[in-house]
Amino acid sequence: MSKVCTNCFKYPFDIRGCGKARMGGFAVSLLFKSAVFSVLFAFFLGGLASLFSLSPSKSIIGADKVSDFSAASAPVVQSTQSQSGQKIDLPIIMYHFILNKKTGKYVLSTDCFENDLIFIKKNGYNPIFLSQLIDFCEGRGELPNKPIMLTFDDGSVTNYTNAFPLLVKYDIKAVMCVVGAWTENNYKPCGNLKPYPTPYMNFGQLENMTKSGLVEIQNHSFDLHKGGGRNGTKINGGESFEDYLAVLQGDLLKANDLLTKNVGVTPTAVAYPFGAYCKMSERALRQLGFKAALTCNERVNKIDKDFNLFNLGRFNRPSGISTEDFFAKFN
Ligand SMILES: [Zn+2]
Repeated sequence: MSKVCTNCFKYPFDIRGCGKARMGGFAVSLLFKSAVFSVLFAFFLGGLASLFSLSPSKSIIGADKVSDFSAASAPVVQSTQSQSGQKIDLPIIMYHFILNKKTGKYVLSTDCFENDLIFIKKNGYNPIFLSQLIDFCEGRGELPNKPIMLTFDDGSVTNYTNAFPLLVKYDIKAVMCVVGAWTENNYKPCGNLKPYPTPYMNFGQLENMTKSGLVEIQNHSFDLHKGGGRNGTKINGGESFEDYLAVLQGDLLKANDLLTKNVGVTPTAVAYPFGAYCKMSERALRQLGFKAALTCNERVNKIDKDFNLFNLGRFNRPSGISTEDFFAKFN
C-alpha cells in the first residue's frame, strides 16, 4: 500500500517528495514560525506600501509555481452576495476517470485536468465541499466568493493516482462519490471494465485523501450502480414508496456504514447513479437522513438559503473540449 507522509498527508506516492518528512518536527515547527513571521512582515510591508501609494503586483497570470497562486487561493470567508440576499452562482463539475491512455465522455487526460485546476486558480474560483454548502443552507457559516465544486463519481483509482496529487499541488478541494461495493472489492464486477481497465479505490486510499483535508467522500450507492431491474436509485414502476424506501435504506445506509467503519467518514449526500431519480427520491433520501443529492442536469446552481439541495446540477467534464470552452458554460 502507498505510504502517506504522517506530517502533512501529502504526496502519498513518494514520501521522498515531502520535505517535511525528512526535516523532522523541529524543522517543521521552525518553518511554520518563519512562515507566520513572513506573513506578518508582508502585512507590515503592505501597509507601508499603501501609505506611500505603492501598488504591489497582484497579477497571477503566468504563474507557474504553486506558491504563485497563493493570492488567488486565499479563502474569502464572507460572501457579499449572500449578505445582500442575492443568489450565489455555484457551478459543479462532474469528473470520472483521469488518465492519459483513453479519452471520452467520462475520461479526461491528466494534462486537461491540470489545466482545469490552473484555470480555477487563475480565475479566482474557491472550491468548496458539499458539506460547506449544506452548512450554508442550514444557516451555519458563509460561502466563499465565487464558489465552485469539483466532484468525482464512481471512485476510480485514477482519482487517487492521477487526480489527488494535482489537488494537493494546487491546494484544491474535491468531493468524491464512491460506490460501496466497488470500493469494498477494489473492483467493478461487470463487463464495463473493458474500456477502463483500472481498479477502484480502496478504503485506505479514501482515508489518505480524507486526512489531507482536501477530499470529502460522499455516497454513490452501495450496489445500485448497475443495470437490471432498477435504474439507479429511481423508484420502479408500480413499486410502493415503502418498498422503495426499504431498498434505498438497505443500499445507501450499507454504503454509509462501510465508509464510517473503514474510512471514519459518514456521507451526508448522494450522487444519483446514472443521474437517475424520481419525485419520490428526495422524500426517501430525507427520511434516511441525507441532506443533499447530486444530479447530472447541466445547470449552474443559484444558491440562497432556500435552495433545494436535492436537485443540485452538475456539468459532466468530457474530453475533446478546452478548459476555456468548458468553463464558458458557467457564464
Ligand atoms: Zn456513476
